[in-house]
Amino acid sequence: MAPALLLVDEQAHPLALLRLLVGKYGKEFLSAPWSMSVVRKSVEADFEVELPEINLHKILAAVAVATQDSFWEHWEHFHFLVQVLSNNVPDPATHHELSVAQMMVAVDIASTIRAELATLSHQPAFSEELGRYVAAQALQAGVWYLPPPLAFAEHHAAGKSYKCRDCGNVSEIVFDDGFCDICTDRFNLSSMAGWTPDLKLVGKGWGKNIEIFEKNPTRGVRERFAAALQKRITLQENRDDICAAKLLVAVHFVEKRRNQLKVQA
Ligand SMILES: [Zn+2]
Repeated sequence: MAPALLLVDEQAHPLALLRLLVGKYGKEFLSAPWSMSVVRKSVEADFEVELPEINLHKILAAVAVATQDSFWEHWEHFHFLVQVLSNNVPDPATHHELSVAQMMVAVDIASTIRAELATLSHQPAFSEELGRYVAAQALQAGVWYLPPPLAFAEHHAAGKSYKCRDCGNVSEIVFDDGFCDICTDRFNLSSMAGWTPDLKLVGKGWGKNIEIFEKNPTRGVRERFAAALQKRITLQENRDDICAAKLLVAVHFVEKRRNQLKVQA
């Protein structure tokens, strides 16, 4: 795609824009990120275009995910960048709820950008804060099963929990090491810093008699979603299928954006 056409196309993929500008200005475009006004003035002068506001935001968002890990660490940054990467001009005065499709597209784009940088960068792991935030947004949208690329939030959305057959404790799984928090005295004041189970109690056999369950069972949705992806079924008007339908929309949105990148590359 011709550079000037890409720059004025409001459907331009963030990575296509980033490739174009790193090609033009070199790696310094990433190592010393430019301000919004410098990007606008330089691009408009050098390519003789009028840059749409959404594309200016996408360029800066692409640089942000290429050069900083905050997208993977802090919900405020994630929330803002998801809107831009999924092609929306963010409005700081309004707290938009994110759809699963928007989050999937943005995470897919961010990891593609990091993959493209290869040796210059790495793929950060999402923080627990982000796992909880993405799960909360998904649940708000009526989705409790999260396949890739949002699988990092899967157990939060499912409400993965346990019941201890010995002490009766029912609790969300936070540490996922297979022990009852109460029977192994995990929250004893002296071990607060590490929140590790007391190994003496573990050695005596305490804490292992737990039964894991999901507050929001995912199996039905997972199966219906997989079948619908392979076009083996027609989704119906029931709880699991409505959730699967939302996931299908999200996955198709990811595919659409990937195809746009191919065309624009
Ligand atoms: Zn217990």
